[in-house]
Amino acid sequence: MGLIEITKNISYLPASEDPLSSDVVFITKENKTYIFDVGANDEAAEMINGIANEKIVVISHFHEDHAANAERIKFDELYASKETIKHTHTGSVISDKIVFDDIIALTVPSSHAKGCVIIVCGDFAFLGDCAYAGFKHGKRLYNVYQLGQLIKLLEGLDVKYFGMSHYKNFIYERETVLTMLREQYAKRTAGCDFIEAIGRSR
Ligand SMILES: [Zn+2]
Repeated sequence: MGLIEITKNISYLPASEDPLSSDVVFITKENKTYIFDVGANDEAAEMINGIANEKIVVISHFHEDHAANAERIKFDELYASKETIKHTHTGSVISDKIVFDDIIALTVPSSHAKGCVIIVCGDFAFLGDCAYAGFKHGKRLYNVYQLGQLIKLLEGLDVKYFGMSHYKNFIYERETVLTMLREQYAKRTAGCDFIEAIGRSR
């Protein structure tokens, strides 16, 4: 599968299942290409290495399917949370947020993994896996506090669409995603720190 165009300067390589590899987002600004997640499959690595522009990479979280190619791609700069950099062994830490041109990379609370980062660009926020539950004791669980914080943060973003890694259409209307998260959050019960995820969630 090849690149899919979202706007004139934003496109993405869709996720794959075997091997498991995340979507890879490319945002081109003149002589720079911002890359969000690097995937784990050959196609993603080859596509990234084929870019002649200056390459600025941001990785959403440390899971292999999003980060493994960091070891075999050429880039100019790489940014990720400190938890992710423990796995990539390369790059600079995003401790809160970093602003590049009109792109913002920021750390977000997430039940899915420690040290999740999203990027915001124009009408879009690319979420990686941060809206998904985490795995604990064989269950897909949201942490109530983190989910509440994440919903608040996403509600505060002035965007129209969210990019949801691994999901079929990748780009979803903001309200579709927020409704899904609010439905999860509504399942919370007093005194319980976790909610079992409903519906599909990676
Ligand atoms: Zn993940």
